[in-house]
Amino acid sequence: MITPNNNNNNNNISSNIEILNNIQPVTLRKRLTNELLKQITDSTISFTVCDLQKEDTTNDDYPVEIIIEDKLYTRNNKYKFKMNKYYPFKQPVIKINNKTYFQFIQFSSQKSLQMLKTLFGYDCLCCQTQLCSFNWLPKVTLYNIVEEIRLFRNCREKISFVLLLEKIVKKYLHKDLTGIIYSYL
Ligand SMILES: [Zn+2]
Repeated sequence: MITPNNNNNNNNISSNIEILNNIQPVTLRKRLTNELLKQITDSTISFTVCDLQKEDTTNDDYPVEIIIEDKLYTRNNKYKFKMNKYYPFKQPVIKINNKTYFQFIQFSSQKSLQMLKTLFGYDCLCCQTQLCSFNWLPKVTLYNIVEEIRLFRNCREKISFVLLLEKIVKKYLHKDLTGIIYSYL
């Protein structure tokens, strides 16, 4: 029994379910409804379901979009999942604040990639993601992907932090700071 408005973060649950009720095919509808109901009590995310076919009847391959707001973050926290009609047998297409998922998991410098290997043991994130066709499994849920995004964000933040720290040490520790430190000895 679902009571609408029993949770402030998911108070649009009944309207979401209503939209899902119109989604075809049935496998996609049932799976998404189950996933949504499972996450009702999770206050760290909120779901919004959009019927893409309603807006454009040619959206046959991706009939629905789920927008998940990740409340653990205040910035860049809207994740858009375009759901393939064969989901969960085909993975969704994801955008993070209008960046493609591929852009999100790319590293711009060789140094960052080296740090990814040193700190986390990964050669790259593109082979690590559950969304890679070789890694995709129908049991992976949207929430699992949100967890992956959080993990990758954490990787990125740690790498930026360590690289910044290295820069600061290089810039100051060998010159000015050593002098300052010596003056206290
Ligand atoms: Zn790769």
